[in-house]
Amino acid sequence: MNKTDLETIRAKLLARRDAILEERGRSFRRMQESTCDVAADPVDRAAGNCDFDVAVGQASIEGEELVAVAEALARIEDGAFGLCEECEQPIGDKRLLALPSARYCIGCQTALEKAGLDPLGA
Ligand SMILES: [Zn+2]
Repeated sequence: MNKTDLETIRAKLLARRDAILEERGRSFRRMQESTCDVAADPVDRAAGNCDFDVAVGQASIEGEELVAVAEALARIEDGAFGLCEECEQPIGDKRLLALPSARYCIGCQTALEKAGLDPLGA
């Protein structure tokens, strides 16, 4: 991966991080402003489409992505960016440009998905 691509990816990651932080702020506000009865039976809440639960789920997804993005930024700092965490082979520039927070090469990613593991950052 050349320097220009790496800078492009770093800029993408930083932009994504800011966007997630903003979304998270909104999710947390939704939790606070939620009018649903959080003490109600979870089944009733699910049926009633409780916005609190939706916001919690959303915040949790955002939290996971935030970790993936932060880890990718840390790997850029370390000079370890672009290597698959599983087989330590290059992930591939195309894949990284499309998905800067990818942790695995496409082969390992597919294998992990087949194994039913949760390959975060895919
Ligand atoms: Zn791999």
